[in-house]
Amino acid sequence: MLRVPGGLCLNILVCGGAGYIGAHMVKRLLQEGHEVVVLDNLSTGHREAVGDASLVVADLLDAEKVERTLRTTAFDAVLHFAAMSIVADSMRDPYAYHQNNVVGTLNLLRAMRTVRVDKLIFSSTAAVYGMPRQHVLDEQHPVEPINPYGATKLAVERLLEDASRAYGLSSVSLRYFNAAGADQEGELGESHQPETHLIPNILRSALGMDPALRIFGSDYPTPDGTCVRDYIHVDDLVDGHACALRYLDRNAGVFRFNLGSGEGYSVAQVLEAARRVTGRPISVEVEARRAGDPATLVASRELAGRELGWEPRKSDLDSILSSAWRWHCKPRY
Ligand code: UDP
Repeated sequence: MLRVPGGLCLNILVCGGAGYIGAHMVKRLLQEGHEVVVLDNLSTGHREAVGDASLVVADLLDAEKVERTLRTTAFDAVLHFAAMSIVADSMRDPYAYHQNNVVGTLNLLRAMRTVRVDKLIFSSTAAVYGMPRQHVLDEQHPVEPINPYGATKLAVERLLEDASRAYGLSSVSLRYFNAAGADQEGELGESHQPETHLIPNILRSALGMDPALRIFGSDYPTPDGTCVRDYIHVDDLVDGHACALRYLDRNAGVFRFNLGSGEGYSVAQVLEAARRVTGRPISVEVEARRAGDPATLVASRELAGRELGWEPRKSDLDSILSSAWRWHCKPRY
């Protein structure tokens, strides 16, 4: 993936590498022979998920420890996945979100400047767009987040623009749509406490861990009344980061790309596919809409295709659901 002729091995710091997406990235980097240091406060991540990477348990709010970690190695780049990411929580406690996601990132950027690491890949989100004005969202769509989570990610994107101008930091912000699925070997998967995401919740119901899937709203202006989302396999997100790293090798500046499949599926369609893949009956209860949920969120992936040469390969619903099902039947943490 990152290999270049001559087998160059990179030193990469992965902040949030014990979390769902970060851990998949770490696994790939290690498979490709790179040196990986994970910095994670383990608030939502799992020690078991980092494999053979060295783990520094630290919070980005601990500026001193962050700088000390950056001084241990001549890092070629930083991949930054560490963030609080639950929309509803961010509505209840915006200070915590701004403190953790914005101030924490500022500490990281300051330390990177001090030790002269000048390449960053940042995990952003489709939530920066707010209420979609069109069916398919490209990167030109206005950014008007409707919740503090999206606002913190946009604040960091803007900070990265300033940092590029003032200090020459090069960065790629990757705006994820709905990350889903698990690695092929069943070693890593999505495990949140409590779980709020659709696919893990569907599978919990399939396993009898929850009595029924609660569908939040069936009166949306979509073909079947349930929300439409763009689900992107976590392995495809990992590919996107690899492309972004290569891109930063050739391009200096500040860049943003959507990472989505470009296909929208409704909650009802995902549920139907899950019944087929799992072979289990899954009961549902329709509830009121969840605050802050837009009816439809679908990515344009044109720019990432053109500039990064990135293309999703595993983001059909069956690949997503069968890999997630394998993990949920036998979670390792
Ligand atoms: N959803 C649902 N039941 C659940 C979890 C999610 O109906 O238990 C719906 C949610 O309202 C949204 C879609 O599934 O329309 C995806 O939600 P998720 O939390 O997975 O991701 P989000 O789009 O909020 O980032």
